[in-house]
Amino acid sequence: MESGKLWIDGQWVASTGDRRLSIENPVTGEIIANAADATAADVDRAVKAASKAFYSGAWSEMTPGERSLCLWKLGDLLLARQAEFARIESDNTGKPYQNGSMGEVGFAVDNLRYYSGAARDAAGLAAGEYTRGHTNLALRVPVGVVGQITPWNFPLMLAIWKIGPALAAGCTIVLKPAPSTPLTTLMLAELTKEAGFPDGVINIISGGNEAGQALVEHPDVRMISLTGSVGTGKKIMQTAATTLKRVHLELGGKAPFIVFDDVDVEAVAQAAAGSATANAGQVCVSATRVYVHADKANHLTEALVDAMQAVKIGTPYEDGVVMGPLISKTQRQSVQGFVERAQQDGASVLTGGRAPAGFDSGYFYEPTVIVGADQKSEIIQSEVFGPVLTVNSFKTEAEAVALANDVVYGLAASIWTRDVGRAMRVMKKLEFGIIGVNNHVNGSSEIGHGGMKQSGFGVDLSVESVSDYLVTKNVLFSDM
Ligand code: NAD
Repeated sequence: MESGKLWIDGQWVASTGDRRLSIENPVTGEIIANAADATAADVDRAVKAASKAFYSGAWSEMTPGERSLCLWKLGDLLLARQAEFARIESDNTGKPYQNGSMGEVGFAVDNLRYYSGAARDAAGLAAGEYTRGHTNLALRVPVGVVGQITPWNFPLMLAIWKIGPALAAGCTIVLKPAPSTPLTTLMLAELTKEAGFPDGVINIISGGNEAGQALVEHPDVRMISLTGSVGTGKKIMQTAATTLKRVHLELGGKAPFIVFDDVDVEAVAQAAAGSATANAGQVCVSATRVYVHADKANHLTEALVDAMQAVKIGTPYEDGVVMGPLISKTQRQSVQGFVERAQQDGASVLTGGRAPAGFDSGYFYEPTVIVGADQKSEIIQSEVFGPVLTVNSFKTEAEAVALANDVVYGLAASIWTRDVGRAMRVMKKLEFGIIGVNNHVNGSSEIGHGGMKQSGFGVDLSVESVSDYLVTKNVLFSDM
């Protein structure tokens, strides 16, 4: 990878500007690299390359089998360099190497193999004679040049969730990773050439929010696909309206974790703590709001405190570490601010609520359990994006559902009970796109990942995601 350059039209090019993004290691606070901060002119150049590749048919007119092969090869190349990608991902995000980035790169390989298969069955055309003497062809065609924008919490994996289905559908892309974590996405660029993707099909530009804005404004981009916060999703939707682009929005979450009175409390506490601290709680589907039946509230709260205190915090390459630091100083200040305001609002912190002792550097934060928060308070209503769980109780099934649904988000939720009928009733009433029964989000490439309400719309993963990048062209043939 050529440091400080952008990947446009199948080669590394210098930015037209001289601004640089400083890339930090959140474990040490050291700057480990710098990357170009793409200008609007760079964005235009990347979009032109993607347009040329799309309209020349270099990619969109390849057979599905040929496209499939490129995606499969990209997966093979990534697998061959799994350890190297995982190391850079851990250095750039602070996440554990064995219990984090190695698995993420492995899953990204599986995602690419899945999309390689999906590419062969994506277009699906249908013909029918609905008017006498005429035959209609309903062709599913790629939407065109797609702008894709990713966040910092799973940099490489979420880039693959974006490019995989778009490429399988036959689109060409300009991808902008998050400004703080572009390294592994840029590393992927060179592999795309080796995998046989024609020049201009995949363009990767590092840059900040302004570069993202320029991509959304560009008139030749037909669709914007974002994984990011609700606020960014709203801005992008507004900007996209001026050129009436399609938008595909995977946004924030505030997942409820609903525990009934017939469960193994210790096992459920382990599951909640595991979800709340995975990736240091910086996951859109992290368990965040525990609602427990009043009869089990004391027992579960105690078990949760124990489970959160037992989580092994540390640097990425230490044995057995399951939780690293938060992504940045700003993020830690933000999490700390949420916890302090919760206390000012009358809630109590049972464990955590501070940086752990024994770390001289890095943005570590203790797994935190909060009780006594009001349902309408900020700590319950807003995405914290840190290892913080609130615990509240309910008395009836209806109350549990009402509390769980009472946020603007609708991404993930889980129900914990041995009663199948109750799980079915509750599941039907929850307004969330991903629901676990006795598990909290165990996805796979075949299972769609997408939300409701202000968590956005459009789906990552599964065949549904490929459909999101296709449009229908109806062609009516006369028999004359
Ligand atoms: P963010 O919204 O701040 O940034 C996401 C991306 O959008 C970045 O690349 C950023 O540069 C870009 N961006 C920001 N403003 C823009 C603008 N006006 N125009 C165009 N691009 C712009 O989010 P983040 O802090 O990087 O990531 C955390 C958020 O992502 C959380 O809310 C989390 O829940 C969400 N997330 C959602 C999912 C999901 O699948 N639903 C997955 C992971 C993360």
